[in-house]
Amino acid sequence: MAAAVQELQNFIDGKFEPWSGPWIRSVNPATGVHEINVPDSGSDEVNAAVDAATRALPGWRALSCAQRAEYMTRVADLLDASLQQFAEAESRDQGKPVWLAAKVDIPRAVLNFRHFAAALPHLLGTSKILSESQTVNYTTREAVGVAGLISPWNLPLYLLTFKIAPALMSGCTVVAKPSELTSLTAFMLCQLFVEAGVPAGVLNMVFGSGAAAGSALTQHPDVPLISFTGSTATGATIASITAPLFKKLSLEMGGKNAALVFSDCDLNKTVATLVRSSFINQGQVCLCTSRIYVHSRIYDEFLDKFVAAVKKLKVGSPDDDSSYLGPLNSAQHLAKVRQCVVQAVKDGGRVLCGETRDELQLPPQCANGFFMAPTVITDVPEESQAMKEEIFGPVTCVRPFSTEEEVVRAANGVRYGLCAAVFTQDLGTAHRVAHALQVGTVWTNCWLVRDLDLPFGGMKQSGLGREGTHESWDFFTQQKTICLQI
Ligand code: NAD
Repeated sequence: MAAAVQELQNFIDGKFEPWSGPWIRSVNPATGVHEINVPDSGSDEVNAAVDAATRALPGWRALSCAQRAEYMTRVADLLDASLQQFAEAESRDQGKPVWLAAKVDIPRAVLNFRHFAAALPHLLGTSKILSESQTVNYTTREAVGVAGLISPWNLPLYLLTFKIAPALMSGCTVVAKPSELTSLTAFMLCQLFVEAGVPAGVLNMVFGSGAAAGSALTQHPDVPLISFTGSTATGATIASITAPLFKKLSLEMGGKNAALVFSDCDLNKTVATLVRSSFINQGQVCLCTSRIYVHSRIYDEFLDKFVAAVKKLKVGSPDDDSSYLGPLNSAQHLAKVRQCVVQAVKDGGRVLCGETRDELQLPPQCANGFFMAPTVITDVPEESQAMKEEIFGPVTCVRPFSTEEEVVRAANGVRYGLCAAVFTQDLGTAHRVAHALQVGTVWTNCWLVRDLDLPFGGMKQSGLGREGTHESWDFFTQQKTICLQI
């Protein structure tokens, strides 16, 4: 018997709103089975959510940062207590292995609330007394207003809470629109806000498509700031809509991230790091490596070790703790990623393992899931699409290089600038190359290690603005200078 389809509801003004359709059908990527109905909301629901957030704003903004922190800490504690339940839901909705969601995504969502609750109460304003005019000048910061938050499907709760926590801690109220492909954990989070006693209207969650609910949110005149994470194409649309409305805008967008492997690196450690950086979450992390440049002196040895390690990765059911890769998020996305491999081969690429070469051994319940083998391609020309455009799947391309200058030029030769990873034992090389790379984050001999205090974001067409303790505070608040004669 088919399992009942779970129906999500918008969360507006502290209440779950009954919804009878239309629905967006959401399938379990591991099985292809339709399991969740997501409300296909439009401008009516967005308007109601913005009205609720506007009404809640004065009260929420008037609380001290420490009082808001108490609420956020309560949400963190509740989320922590339901970690396994959230991890299983995230896996069912997004496709990532349960162990990965339990180890990374949900703990990180907990940390997002804890971190901003702990850090923001300690950011101080500035003041100055001008003795000649007998004035005291000081600056205050106030919440900008109702924040519109839009997030993607690849790290659903992880990225959504990285926006919600600092927005609320800064005194903004929120209307959030998660991806229509992965709305389940956002829906579950609303219940925790009710349990934590967060006042009605402070957090509102409107579910639906980008074209309807997303676009209504970005155009709403009472939403003065939009924080968006998603593709560069959508970011460009949002920028063009919000610019004439003078909205504050933060964009975290796509990447085409390079790894630069120098001949003096610790090869085994480098291979292990690049296997993870290329294939974790099925390569569907904006920071995943998708171009690996290896010094020609160690190119053959690197490829042998790398391909051997990739071939050992198990693709399987997300419920199986030994699966390293689950399914891709949707049938359309799988088709798109597969097409990228076909194009790479047409352009001269040689597939060393994965798609078109290796058969997957999947359990019967996953026969209709959106699975793909981790794929390594060589000999792709530098100017080909596979080297220039984001694939956002379990595919990585490897090319040799001879000089530092050549590899930096190649790494910078794309329209994106999100992150890069450099592998070398030489401190001079590490610093020189890090300075020369046009990206927001450079990792050296590691990957995906970052403290939430530090600014995160992209250069070029990967982003506009930064997120992090100070940067999110800057974004969600605005300064006022007050001059007072004494
Ligand atoms: P997407 O741009 O298709 O959708 C992202 C969100 O925007 C979704 O909630 C969607 O409904 C909404 N949206 C779509 N059209 C809209 C519109 N016209 N107006 C308002 N909202 C709209 O991206 P995706 O496919 O969900 O996510 C994958 C992309 O996100 C990749 O390019 C990836 O690199 C990027 N990403 C970037 C970061 C980062 O921090 N830089 C992190 C994760 C993902």
